[in-house]
Amino acid sequence: MKQRAIIIGGGFAGLAAAKRLKRELGKIEVLLIDKRTHHNFLPLLPDLVGRDFKEENLLYPLEHASQRFGFEFLNSRVKSIDLEEQKLTTVLDEIPFDFLVIATGSETDFYASVDIHKHAYTLESVDDAIKLRRALFEARGKNIVICGGGYTGVELASAVAMACRRHFLNNTITLVNIGQSLCTSLPWQFQKYISENLENLAINVKLGTTVSRAEKDVVQLENGEIIRNSLLIWVAGKTTSGIIQGLQVDKNRRGRLLVDPYLRIGKFIFAAGDVASFVHGAENLRMSVQFSLSQGHCAADNIARYLNGRPLVPFKAHDPGYVVPMANGLSCGKVMNRDLFGRLPTWLHYSMSAFRSYSPKNSYNVLRDWLSSSFHNPDKKFQINNLANKY
Ligand SMILES: Cc1cc2nc3c(=O)[nH]c(=O)nc-3n(C[C@H](O)[C@H](O)[C@H](O)COP(=O)(O)OP(=O)(O)OC[C@H]3O[C@@H](n4cnc5c(N)ncnc54)[C@H](O)[C@@H]3O)c2cc1C
Repeated sequence: MKQRAIIIGGGFAGLAAAKRLKRELGKIEVLLIDKRTHHNFLPLLPDLVGRDFKEENLLYPLEHASQRFGFEFLNSRVKSIDLEEQKLTTVLDEIPFDFLVIATGSETDFYASVDIHKHAYTLESVDDAIKLRRALFEARGKNIVICGGGYTGVELASAVAMACRRHFLNNTITLVNIGQSLCTSLPWQFQKYISENLENLAINVKLGTTVSRAEKDVVQLENGEIIRNSLLIWVAGKTTSGIIQGLQVDKNRRGRLLVDPYLRIGKFIFAAGDVASFVHGAENLRMSVQFSLSQGHCAADNIARYLNGRPLVPFKAHDPGYVVPMANGLSCGKVMNRDLFGRLPTWLHYSMSAFRSYSPKNSYNVLRDWLSSSFHNPDKKFQINNLANKY
């Protein structure tokens, strides 16, 4: 009987692992389990809001991937994992495994605040982005409060600003961040560029405070300020899903699984992507598509090595850089160790997104929608301004 590898999660890491294991299908059966029916292309979620991208361009059916790459697909939520007994429980069944790749990504952290959870919009799936877009159209004239000044928060703030201009929604937008600067992990020149860009987009930035309470249409900040007639979007923290929290293994302070150099948390159990905490130098690798894909490949290669009786290979983090894409086309980032500002990093972001899409149709549509939204920007002043010439 063939051995069975189970992959939990059909995101970037899980799908990369499943695709890579195709060449081992003679020796092993591969089952991918995901609670969603489609792979969601998360880096383009803000574009559903800010550039009116079509949602189908961000979705790739996992059933289709299963036929293309030869794995089995089960659309179900994994409820628990028994590492000792090597079996997991879904809402339907109990399934044993010989190898496991945990690639469940990350979830929004509400820091146990029930009222914020209940009243805030989030941005962790295509469904979330569609709900948010709909809510924005119904929130004409309201105060949009975005809590969280990391990459996702600043990118989303620019997207909301562009959506409001494109559709004449007349909202005020406030970005709230607990830290004393935006995107604190970035070098100062990028922080400055992003702050000036948000100022150009007429976004109010409030630093050193956070949202402490929320109810319908009302947001209260930690500094006591109350913002009425508001719509709250919460992107202020990331954690791992419930099944990971239930595992009795070593984790970092955000609940990510501490993996060994081969990406293992147990002899035949690997973790890849956002759920894995891989320490590189003195830091955890950032959550990104690049590292999720390469970790998915590494986990799959090590399963193949077990099967073929060869020594495992350690994960090597190759970092080509990053871009913080802004909806008005004025992005910034470090690529191949060079600081980039303006349109070039924007172009790189959409080219990479098209390149990494799983279907040629999606790739084509992403590039088409990006170009058409760039040329049909109703308010050119927000693209061609002093900032573009300054850096
Ligand atoms: C708004 C936004 C913008 C981003 N922009 C960028 C960017 O520009 N560049 C970049 O590099 N990165 C970006 N990222 C980060 C990047 O998208 C993530 O690092 C990447 O998606 C992680 O891949 P993953 O496979 O680990 O997890 P995911 O892609 O999140 O996939 C996890 C999968 O696991 C499934 N799952 C979870 N729990 C269960 C369960 N219990 N049972 C079954 N299935 C389960 C989920 O349904 C999901 O399909 C962005 C993220 C967001 C949210």
